[in-house]
Amino acid sequence: MGAFMTRKRKSYSGEDITKLRAHSKARTPAAQVAKLLNRTVGSLQQKSRRLDIKLGHRPYDMLPKIIEHTCPGCNGTGFPKVKQPAQPGRKLYPVQCKTCAGKGKVADASN
Ligand SMILES: [Zn+2]
Repeated sequence: MGAFMTRKRKSYSGEDITKLRAHSKARTPAAQVAKLLNRTVGSLQQKSRRLDIKLGHRPYDMLPKIIEHTCPGCNGTGFPKVKQPAQPGRKLYPVQCKTCAGKGKVADASN
C-alpha cells in the first residue's frame, strides 16, 4: 500500500475528537486548532457542529445581551396617545414618548 495523496475527507479518530473537545473548552482559536490537528478550519467547524461543541474563541460571547421590550408607555408606537383637539388647524404635535425616546422599544439593561 503506497501513500496515496488523496484529498479525501480524513476521518476523525477518537483521539482527534478528544483533542477537539479539549480545544473547544480551552477556546483555542479555530485557525490554531486547524494547524495543530492538521485539518482545515472548515472541517473542524463541521465536525464540532456535529459533535455539538463550540469551536474557537467565540467573540460573540463578549457581546452583552440586550433584550428589547415593547415600550409600555406608548405601546410600541413611539408616541404616547394624544387626544387631538376638535378644532382644525390646532393640531397637537405628537410628542415623543419619554420612556423610549420615540423608538417604541425599551432595552432591558438589567440583564
Ligand atoms: Zn414609548
